[in-house]
Amino acid sequence: MVIIEARDIRKVYGNLEVLHDVDLSVEEGEILGLIGPSGSGKSTLLRILDLIEPPSGGELSVFGTDTVAERSRWLDLRRRMGMLFQRPIVFNASVYDNVAMGLRYRGVSGSDIDRKVKEALDAVGLSRYIKSRATDLSGGEQQRVALSRVLVTDPEILFLDEPTANLDPGSTATIERIVADLNREAGMTVLISTHDLAQGQRLAHRIAVMIEGTVAQAGSPHAVFHEPGSRKIAGFVGVQNIIPGRIVSRQGGLTTVAAKDRRIISATPSPADEVFVVIRGEDVSLHRREPGYEEAENLFPAKVTAIESMAPFVNVTVDCGCDLVVLMPARRAEALEIHVGMEVWVSLPAKVVHLVPQNGP
Ligand code: ADP
Repeated sequence: MVIIEARDIRKVYGNLEVLHDVDLSVEEGEILGLIGPSGSGKSTLLRILDLIEPPSGGELSVFGTDTVAERSRWLDLRRRMGMLFQRPIVFNASVYDNVAMGLRYRGVSGSDIDRKVKEALDAVGLSRYIKSRATDLSGGEQQRVALSRVLVTDPEILFLDEPTANLDPGSTATIERIVADLNREAGMTVLISTHDLAQGQRLAHRIAVMIEGTVAQAGSPHAVFHEPGSRKIAGFVGVQNIIPGRIVSRQGGLTTVAAKDRRIISATPSPADEVFVVIRGEDVSLHRREPGYEEAENLFPAKVTAIESMAPFVNVTVDCGCDLVVLMPARRAEALEIHVGMEVWVSLPAKVVHLVPQNGP
């Protein structure tokens, strides 16, 4: 069931248009990751969906209520949602009081407060700190206190705005585990914005990519990372190979593209004659000698022209008639004794060769 439906959302601050033409639906029970470059409008969109501020235009329905027509119901709707911000907000008081605060505002009775605070601290693994001063805790723990202050109000939708941007890897993993558990065990719907692509891939069931103030693509993590809808999205999601090419033939579901001096076979129905060939570096296999048997539609002799460390991986650039970057574990490159000038073979199946039109968005 769709619980948030945004259509044609626009937001302007003074003369600055920050969001335009935003269409986005959120399904009950899903984790939706909002990724995009810094400044692309992720936080602004979350604040609008969470009813912290109104859009300048468009339609927004939350829990089936038309929020544009029914402004008087905002407070009720907002109480069914909770937002955690990038910087943990904790007060110079006990952890208990920090978490209880949200409930006192809502006039919940004392014994209910006690029980709910304990449950919320348990959910974030901080029960033993209940009497500690919140400001004495580490940054990661403070963020968990802030999260339990949101959880204590039983939100049906949890909004997380770059929740781990200021945290170390250990604290980040803890927050991710808590969020995944809340979703899996309590069925909580989660919207998380992040500029951390790996976090988006780890956590989200579905990903929306924001580019320059609009949702440029929404789909499964696989679709967004392997079949990006445009050159800009491909660049943002870290695709190493974005090669201009021209369609030379289409036959039996396969498209042949000329990219410089190389013909590459793709399983993408060609969207235009002038395309970008989009290939993730990890989808290309590198061989020391010509494979005796190879299923992949594309198999080319090549020469290594550069090796760049991306520890624990390496980007190996080969010239196979066009430049192609292969991403492989550094250990494997060492085992294969890959070096500049080496003659190698590369192979890649047609289904990993994605095509986008050159004059697309
Ligand atoms: P992101 O979360 O993707 O980094 P933001 O939503 O924070 O992007 O910001 C998008 C753009 O909107 C930025 O150019 C930012 O400076 C601008 N912006 C955000 N909030 C305001 C505001 N309250 N007033 C004016 N400009 C704002």
